[in-house]
Amino acid sequence: SRVGEVDLPLLIREVVEISMQQARCVRVEFSLDLDESVPSVHASVTELQQVLLNLINNAIQAMESDGGTLAIACFADSSHAIMEVADTGPGIPAANLSRIFDPFFTTKPVGKGSGLGLSICFGIIHQMGGEIDVESTVGVGTRFTIRLPLPHVSH
Ligand code: ADP
Ligand code: MG
Repeated sequence: SRVGEVDLPLLIREVVEISMQQARCVRVEFSLDLDESVPSVHASVTELQQVLLNLINNAIQAMESDGGTLAIACFADSSHAIMEVADTGPGIPAANLSRIFDPFFTTKPVGKGSGLGLSICFGIIHQMGGEIDVESTVGVGTRFTIRLPLPHVSH
């Protein structure tokens, strides 16, 4: 997990490619909105792949009974690169929302989920000085937003 300059739109396309077959099997369609001019972030490419794969796997699992859309966006503001992963799945009840980043919190049957995915994502993103947040509406879907600090630019 060596640290380097990570091209986020490229990383997203690569991880989506890996997940494409699994998504197609359960009628989940990807929708990508990637700003190719997003500056590189200083990070471990393998750790960021792991984070994105966790979010995508969760989203596909959430939609596996009815299919849906998995929308991934990447853009930047003046200080951060931002990645959004949004699904049209069942959503997360309010009572669970504050617990999903806790280690071992899972609503999946024994053997299906360890409850570690999101706690690992949280640790990786915060170690990089970033933030991960979730918004969810039951019956509508769930959106995770990751904000990663960009290197300071001098003017
Ligand atoms: P696991 O996938 O092993 O259950 P995670 O830490 O990845 O563990 O996720 C914890 C819980 O958060 C899941 O069991 C599920 O209840 C909820 N969750 C995560 N992502 C989604 C999503 N996209 N839609 C609905 N629920 C989700
Ligand atoms: Mg998971």
